[in-house]
Amino acid sequence: MTVASMPEVARVANFIGGELVDAAGGEHFDNICPSTGEVMGEVPDSDERDVDAAVAAAKRAFPSWSRTPAAERSTLLLKIADLIERDREQLARVESLDSGKPVSLARKLDIPRAVANFRFFATAILHESTEAHATDTTALNYTLRQPLGAVGLISPWNLPLYLLSWKIAPAIAAGNTCIAKPSELTPVTATMLARIVTEAGLPPGVVNVVQGFGAKAGRALTCHPDVSAISFTGGTVTGAAVAANAAPRFKKLSLELGGKNPNVIFADADLDDAVATSIRSSFWNQGEICLCGSRIFVERSIHDRFVDRFVAATKKLRVGDPLDDATDVGALISEAHLAKVSGYVDLASREGGHIATGGRRLDRPGFFHEPTVITGLTCDCRVLNEEIFGPVVTITPFENEREAIAFANSTNYGLSASVWTRDLQRAHRVASAIDCGTIWINTWLLRDLRVPFGGMRESGVGREGGWESLRFFTEAKNVCVKL
Ligand code: NAD
Repeated sequence: MTVASMPEVARVANFIGGELVDAAGGEHFDNICPSTGEVMGEVPDSDERDVDAAVAAAKRAFPSWSRTPAAERSTLLLKIADLIERDREQLARVESLDSGKPVSLARKLDIPRAVANFRFFATAILHESTEAHATDTTALNYTLRQPLGAVGLISPWNLPLYLLSWKIAPAIAAGNTCIAKPSELTPVTATMLARIVTEAGLPPGVVNVVQGFGAKAGRALTCHPDVSAISFTGGTVTGAAVAANAAPRFKKLSLELGGKNPNVIFADADLDDAVATSIRSSFWNQGEICLCGSRIFVERSIHDRFVDRFVAATKKLRVGDPLDDATDVGALISEAHLAKVSGYVDLASREGGHIATGGRRLDRPGFFHEPTVITGLTCDCRVLNEEIFGPVVTITPFENEREAIAFANSTNYGLSASVWTRDLQRAHRVASAIDCGTIWINTWLLRDLRVPFGGMRESGVGREGGWESLRFFTEAKNVCVKL
């Protein structure tokens, strides 16, 4: 399979008012293939003019779309889901090529989740109800939840279609129109989605896509006076810039940011399951999932046994061509990101860590790094505090439950955690004591789209998922009727 056999990767465009168009300025930048390092297409280098046009199209579409009955909106979203499902193989291959992720993972995770996102919110809006509050016998209050208008949706490169559709689906299901800004590093499936929504019959302007750099197109979207809300997923530092630009304009804001998630393994855990699942939570998608458990803490009595088994399993992972069905770990997203990951491995050595396996960039074209396991570091090291977002994990022993909780809570992040134990009471105690938005007990990445999802502290503000998403994308209006 080559780039030449997938011409859609070269055809990246903006999508404004139902038309696939180039950037107003006609400028482009290269789209680099992570597994070869070669240019595989061009991306429109959009600026304020493109954002202005997209916002104008979204505003034009809003009055009619927001009044479209929920059943009709639902049918259109279900049609979009069906078309993504129809094109799943092509979308999976393109996502793999564009992001470096193994095609097997795109098939299993990314594309099915994009389908599920549209189906979930298509049906959710058929089951919505709102509150009523009777004030004794004097008044009756009822709450309307009305769409916001044109909303901005900014997403990262690690789960491109998965996360973009996680925002687009609830936004338009709730009756908003939107301007989506995919990552400049993974623009292709957003353009394919634009073709799909057109084929599904979505009215022009309901979904718009502006491609380009965050500091230019993303910033223009965040600052635009006619954009009512920004739903942002990305890094913590970027999130701070987005918040600073959105706050003075009083936009609704949802921030899903970085993580440095603990994976806590007690001595009574099912070790087979803990090792197998921890391999996934460490190295799936090259460790480029915000929910990856990059800090592994193991109770001292089983620490050495766990390390031996975990390292042996890590060595069996096949690193290579993302389009090969047998590949477990593909390429990192970019040369710059690979340099960042390698830099942290070097730092780990300087901080006194022992590289138990891996540690090197692969000597081949593209941006490949060995799955890497580091032991011997403590919670005060930078490697255990800063998000690496690559195939690099640390394993640190702990003495008891109190220390495990302290270690888990020792960073500024608070996105997710896994806890492995067969002791039910301890599981509940530890879950309650770890400060993060999602805790998995004896599992990882088991997602139910109805549950609240989001982070604490530097991992974000607000929650998405289920009603949380629909509430974010609507304004609550109370109507008080005197009786
Ligand atoms: P990033 O912050 O560099 O970019 C995210 C998006 O923001 C991109 O579309 C980018 O173009 C845009 N952007 C950049 N600067 C901007 C600005 N000034 N104004 C507006 N938009 C701007 O993140 P990334 O490197 O693409 O993604 C990796 C990060 O995302 C990691 O930190 C990861 O943990 C995080 N992430 C979080 C979640 C979550 O749900 N919490 C999910 C996935 C990824």
